[in-house]
Amino acid sequence: MREDTKSWIQRFVAERDWEQFHTPANLAKSIAIEAAELLEHYQWSDDAELSEVQEEIADVLIYTHMLAWNLGLDPDTIMREKLALNERKYPVAKARGKSTRYDRLDSE
Ligand SMILES: [Mg+2]
Repeated sequence: MREDTKSWIQRFVAERDWEQFHTPANLAKSIAIEAAELLEHYQWSDDAELSEVQEEIADVLIYTHMLAWNLGLDPDTIMREKLALNERKYPVAKARGKSTRYDRLDSE
């Protein structure tokens, strides 16, 4: 049976005794650092190497999941809650085709 991703990440960390470094603040910093590494691939061109971008996306996802678990949150649940909130903030009738921030949609 295939090991699920959460178990694999947790085993990877535990085998290296790295839990001690994974405070919420350190994980939040790691997300930002990995997001910056992702951006670096697009610094001078929109045509980044997909395999390199893939690795940075994975880093962001892994750290993001680790932070959520560390805080007792379920990533899928909190994404669904945020999507529901965003649907209310950005009603299709007002937001379709616009990049306007939600609190300025009525003034357009
Ligand atoms: Mg990286």
